[in-house]
Amino acid sequence: MSFASTTDLAEKHISFDELGPGLYAYTAEGDPNSGVIVGPDGVVVVDAQATPIMAADVQRRIAAVTALPVKQVVLSHYHAVRVLGASGYPAHSVICSDATRDLIVERGAQDMDSEIGRFPRLFRGRESIPGLTWPTTTFHQRMTLWLGEREAQIIHIGRSHTAGDTVVWLPKEKVLFAGDTVEFGATPYCGDAHFADWPATLAAVRELGAEKLVPGRGRALLTRADVEQGIAETAAYTGDLFAVARRAAEKGWTLKQCYDEAMAALRPKYGHWVIFEHCMPFNVSRAYDEASGIAHPRIWTAERDIAMWAALERGEPMKSAEVH
Ligand SMILES: [Zn+2]
Repeated sequence: MSFASTTDLAEKHISFDELGPGLYAYTAEGDPNSGVIVGPDGVVVVDAQATPIMAADVQRRIAAVTALPVKQVVLSHYHAVRVLGASGYPAHSVICSDATRDLIVERGAQDMDSEIGRFPRLFRGRESIPGLTWPTTTFHQRMTLWLGEREAQIIHIGRSHTAGDTVVWLPKEKVLFAGDTVEFGATPYCGDAHFADWPATLAAVRELGAEKLVPGRGRALLTRADVEQGIAETAAYTGDLFAVARRAAEKGWTLKQCYDEAMAALRPKYGHWVIFEHCMPFNVSRAYDEASGIAHPRIWTAERDIAMWAALERGEPMKSAEVH
């Protein structure tokens, strides 16, 4: 058995766009992005990449624009594909929200196995991963890094893609590193999402008034119109999916019925987005759970991934313990 993504092996083209003086977006055609903030005596990286080997590529790009070392790594959330490269930087501190640390404690190990099994291409050089990434600094709602006169606000903006979602906001430059709260041209992964909270989180993102925004996946958004489009499309996709799941809960559909309805409703609008086929089984499973009253996302394990995928993609029966 294989997920849609285990045969997805095409290498992506990396872009390293300057968003303003000392501000860069490392983007990869729909693969996970990183952000770079150059301060007077060191560099902040937002999201570490999946492996130390992949982190080395980010540092090669940084070395082309500054000789300063990476001193801080900020994690937008706990997913393996974002955090496991952190040890590849000479950083003194790894920063995340309290809620993100709680999720690493609760499910980091299972998440690592699950994510590597689902999407091996995204973990290039995975033998270089020394283990889970642990933060050295956590915060409850927000903290500020002062890089000389430059202010970088690290904000636990609300629940959406995960319960710990964090953005990095430069209020003077009006640049936002949005993590996976916003995607662009890439399907939002919702397997650990809080759908009911996502609209309020996007409203808080919009309220910041970013002129440039780096989404979790997809190209950097360099105009207000593009920023608004990214926010609106993320809201539309997650809202449409959750609407199908709420209907499924009302009508007592099975998970498979919910999946078939969701695919029929969403594929015409969003099927051209990167990783649409990969995400939908996980996304529908979580939307169905939340609509059925499961507030805290269930932990994905390599075994649960396979059972769910077989049930939805091939219509094989699923043990009830695996469905709920
Ligand atoms: Zn994620």
